[in-house]
Formats: sequence, structure tokens, C-alpha cells
Amino acid sequence: MPLELTSDIRFLKGVGPKMAEKFHTIGIQTVLDLLFHLPRDYQDRTRITPIRECQVGRYAQIEGAILQTQVTFGKRRSLLVTVEDLSGKITLRFFHFNKQQQANMEKGRQIRAFAECRLLNQGMEMIHPEYSLDPDPINTVNEKLTAIYSTTQGISQTLWRNLQTQAIAVLENSTEQVDSIQLPKHLKDLQISLNEALMFCHNPPPTVKVDQLLEGKHPYQMRLALDELIAHQLSLLTYRHQRRSQASSALATEDNPLLNALPFQLTNAQARVVDEIANDLNQSHPMMRLVQGDVGSGKTIIAAIAACFALTSGFQAVLMAPTEILAEQHLVSFTEWFTPLGFTVESLLGKHTKKQKRERLEALKAGDIQCLIGTHAVIEDDVQFHQLGLIIIDEQHRFGVHQRLKLHNKGQADLLPHQLIMTATPIPRTLAMTAYADLDLSIIDELPKGRQPIITKLVDQHRRNDVIERIHKACLDGQQAYWVCTLIEESETLNCQTAEDTFTQLQQALPNLQIGLVHGRLKPTEKALIMEAFANGDIHLLVATTVIEVGVNVPNAAIMVIENPERLGLSQLHQLRGRVGRGHLQSYCLLVYQKPLSSQGKERLQIMRESNDGFVIAEKDMALRGPGEILGDKQTGLINFRVAHLERDNHLVEDARTIALSLEQDSATAKALIARWLHQPEIFMNG
Ligand code: ADP
Ligand code: MG
Repeated sequence: MPLELTSDIRFLKGVGPKMAEKFHTIGIQTVLDLLFHLPRDYQDRTRITPIRECQVGRYAQIEGAILQTQVTFGKRRSLLVTVEDLSGKITLRFFHFNKQQQANMEKGRQIRAFAECRLLNQGMEMIHPEYSLDPDPINTVNEKLTAIYSTTQGISQTLWRNLQTQAIAVLENSTEQVDSIQLPKHLKDLQISLNEALMFCHNPPPTVKVDQLLEGKHPYQMRLALDELIAHQLSLLTYRHQRRSQASSALATEDNPLLNALPFQLTNAQARVVDEIANDLNQSHPMMRLVQGDVGSGKTIIAAIAACFALTSGFQAVLMAPTEILAEQHLVSFTEWFTPLGFTVESLLGKHTKKQKRERLEALKAGDIQCLIGTHAVIEDDVQFHQLGLIIIDEQHRFGVHQRLKLHNKGQADLLPHQLIMTATPIPRTLAMTAYADLDLSIIDELPKGRQPIITKLVDQHRRNDVIERIHKACLDGQQAYWVCTLIEESETLNCQTAEDTFTQLQQALPNLQIGLVHGRLKPTEKALIMEAFANGDIHLLVATTVIEVGVNVPNAAIMVIENPERLGLSQLHQLRGRVGRGHLQSYCLLVYQKPLSSQGKERLQIMRESNDGFVIAEKDMALRGPGEILGDKQTGLINFRVAHLERDNHLVEDARTIALSLEQDSATAKALIARWLHQPEIFMNG
């Protein structure tokens, strides 16, 4: 029987059961999967490059006569072979070589070499090139570019190429065409069938623009990326569609006692978002809304107002925070807001005893607690509600999508609770469209009045004493400060050690200040006590690890010192910096860096100094460090594309969404698209 695109790759020649297993573990099951594994690189051996035209950082094939061969003893013993053609000279450098090899490289002999060109002290060099001596002048070169595949142990490049050739043959003979969808007119460069695109990418002709191909920006590559992005959008839209067909209790939204009792006026942006939420809550299908707002834009009160709609409608609300510190802080605010209105707010935290926990769970089930606040403890199976109407997830980038889905199942039998998700990490628009296409988006793009922009300064480690002196003055003036220690290792133990050492040093340097210390290894109760003392102003200076990164709100704190900021991502720095500048005081963020800084390190800190805008910073962070930095690994894992590349193919996302929206109804095409790209579409489907 002839092979089809859906055939298992073990039917290809040269793939035994063991080899098939290897492919399966890297996600390649079928012939089509194999075809979607595009080359990561292309080598041009179709021609000989004159030595003078070799470019730094590019692969080239050169040919010439050996001028000289010598062994040098610098840092490493090397064999240096100088080769000359009519246009110039180049040095081939070998670190590993034997006597025979050395002897073979005789002066005057003809050599052909292929490698990346580098510029070193001696001029242009190739390090460990592939080479052949006395090359056959007739069989000069390959006819096509050579594809290089990213691979795993035990799968050679030769095997990859061999299998791809077989797979292309299957594609050409296949009865079930990989059907292409109609693309809008403005994408005229991409009017290519998937078959053509796949064949081209695995076997590009020598006339191709190699640069474009290497950058992954050739129309044939873009066509495939677009297809995948559309499939991804479709799967999220399908999930969203299913959710909309589910039932929720419509909440009453005419009146909100909290809104009437606010100590300040909402900003226009806040008021708009409250309206959007109210409108959603009033529907009989579940809300699924993501509120993005820069640090300090006032998301907590939005959460409370939303919760208030649920409580006044006779439902319960639950708030999930990423850290205990933050949950404690929310508990204080919510209690202050809701107790006067006659509602009971309780928390579920690590510090509670078994007995306390049991009592709370019972009260919750009986409906005696109306609003529950906690960390991920609130999604454990033993937590049952009387009538849960609204789930709020604060700083959602700290959670995975699965946790988000798990909470969703806590509603009444057939009624799903509404969901409000908040994040302070602004997500670049196209990234948000890709990662959260199943959510509705609200943006708080305005800070409360009277805020002064935080002034950020870069301070050389040598001037640490000046920083200490500055803190001293500010604290004697009644202000408060943070001192954040970071560490290169992901080791919590070492991290705490650094914080402890810094704490001791600062205590010695500033004997008349009250200094506190929090880090991840403290017991929850200890952490809570210190945070409370800091919030009350009993502690002047708080030394901390990045545990205080999100959410902490102490408006009287006006100085944020971050040591070794070069170790953190920009979005993370922006989060930390956002702990100050939350009141009326002029606030400062001092980034105490260690020399020498890499040029990228410098650039990153400059961005921090120049911008206070989380959206700008997120865009730059994404460009410099990739989407993982912004979404968190848990989220990024879900959008691991095979062909598409979030940054590179950014410009295709809008089109992908539009096309997906136009396809949603056409379910056969949509299903085929999803099926060919997504191995586990059910991830998105089981909301
Ligand atoms: P974030 O968006 O970072 O979670 P918070 O909700 O913690 O910000 O709010 C930061 C501070 O701003 C809090 O002290 C809060 O009381 C205050 N705040 C929120 N909204 C307003 C407003 N409209 N006017 C004045 N202050 C506000
Ligand atoms: Mg917050």
C-alpha cells in the first residue's frame, strides 16, 4: 500500500522500531510531522566562493593552494594552514589533528574547505572546516543548498535528508492533498500551496536568496508559518466558542456598594474596565477576561469591585494570588472594604493549622464565607464552594494555563463561574493575541492622578556607600526603602544567603534604622509578620530576594535598590521597580550594577533608565530575550510552534487571526487545519 501523509514514519525506509521511537519522542509521528520539521539552517555548497568575498559569520566553500602549514603553541596547540586562491588568503585552523593529517597538508597541494568564516588576529579564518584534498575538479559542487536539521542524538543529518526525500515523494503522490486555504489579496507573496512550500523549504534551489532563507523570512517559509498560526488561532477560538456555549449565572450589576464608597475616583481607564466586566458578568455564559495594567495602575480595586458584583448577587468569589505575601496583603484590603458591607472575607494560607483549614473549608461549603483569598491552595480538590460565582486570578503570568482551567471546574454542577484574570506584565499585542486568543482583553492604560514618574539611576557597585547614605537620609525623613538581592544561580539557598549577608552589612552600616529581611525560606508566618511591620512603617528598610517582585503595595516606600540588576529580565525589573512610586512621594530606583557589563547588559539597563512604560519595556524584553521571559515558561510551553516563530513571524499574527475568524464556521477546513498542526488540540478543548 502506498504511504500517505498520515502514515507512521516507521514505514519509511531506514526507520526501524528503535529509530521510530526516537522520532516519536521529539514529536514526529507521521510523514506530515516529518515534513513540518523544517531545516534549521542551509549550507551553500553549490559554488566556490573567492576567498576575498568570504564574509564574517557566514558559511562558505573555498578552494585554493596550500601556501604554508605550521603548528603553533599559543593558548592551545593549533595546526594553521594558509590557503591562497587568485583573490586572497585564508587560514584554516585545527585544534585536533594528527601527524598524518599534518603531513598531508603539503605546500602546493589543492584543498577545498567548507566552514563558517571568522575574523581572528591572523585575518580571515575557518575553524575545523570540512575539507578535501586534491578535489575532483569535475564533480565541483552540489546542485542544491544543503539542508541542516535540528536533531537529537542518534539521528544523523544524512538520515534526515534521506527521510525528507522519501517524505517529499509521499507528498507528491498523496491522494489526500494538504489543502490550502484561500488567503486575502494583500498577502499576494504568500499565494503558495502548502505542497510547494514544503518542497521548497526542504530542497531550495541554488538561485534562492539565501539570506532570506536563513532568516526564515522567505515567502515559502512564511506561508507555512502562517498556516500554523491560523491553526493555533482556530484551536483557541474553538475553545472560546465552546466556552460561550456553556452556562453561567448572570450576576446583577446595576448596583455596587463598594463603587459608591470608594475613597478616590476611578481613573477613566479603570471605569471603562469596570464597565466591561459588569457587562460580561451580566451574561449567562462565563466571562473570561484578562485585565492588563501596568504596575500601580490600580488593579486590586477592580478585582474587589468585580467581587462585589458577585457577593451582592448572592454568590461567592475567590481570589488566587501568586504568593503568600500578596494574598495576605489582599486579605487586608478586601477585609477593610467588605466588612462594612456585611460580607465575610477569609484566607486559606500555608500558615494555617489543619484545624483552622478544616473550619474554613466547612464555612466555605456552607456559604458562611463569601470571599476567599489564597494562593494556589484554593484550587486544591478539597476546596468546595457553596455557590461560586467569580474567580479572580491576580498576576496570572505566575500560573500555568492548567491551573487556570482547574479553577474553572469549581462551579455548580452545570454553571461555570465567571473568570477575571489580571496581569501587570504588559504583553505585546501580537503575543497576547497568540497566547490568550481565548480571552477577552481589557487594558488599564492610565495611572492614578498625582503619581510622579519613578526616577531610575544606574549606580556602579563602587558607589554602594553613597546608596546606603541616601537611604539613611530618606528614612530619617520618614520614607521607606527596599533593597533587593539577586543571584545568578537559580538556587534559593544561595540567594537567601546573599540576602542574609547584605542584611547584616546594612545593619552594621545603618545602626539607627530598623531593617527587616524577607526571603523564600522564611516560614509563612514569619514572612507575614515582617511584611506587616513594613506596611505599618515599623521597618524602614526591607532587604529581600525577588519574593517581593509582584503586587506588594506600600505607598510610603520611595527607594528601590536592586543589586546586580543585569541578572534579571526587563519585565521582572519593571515589576520590582513598581513596588515604589505608588504614592505621592518622588520615588527612585537605583540599579547597582557590577562592572564589566556586556553591551547587551548595558543596553538593557539603559532601557530601564529611559522608560517607565511597561508596554515599551515588554516589547524590548521580547526582542532581547524572547517570549518566554514575558509569558513565563509555563505559558510559553503551550505555544511551542513547529514552524512559526513568535518574534520573527509577529507580522503574520493579525492576518492569522482574521483568517481564522473567517474560517471558524467552516468547520471541515478548520478541523483539518488544527489536525495537521496540533498534536494535542485537547489542551485547549477541555475547559
Ligand atoms: P496594581 O495595579 O499594581 O495591582 P494596586 O491595585 O496595588 O496596583 O494600586 C496601587 C495603589 O494605587 C494602591 O495604593 C491603590 O489604593 C491606589 N489606587 C488605585 N486606584 C486609584 C485611583 N483611581 N486613584 C488613586 N489611587 C488609586
Ligand atoms: Mg496588584
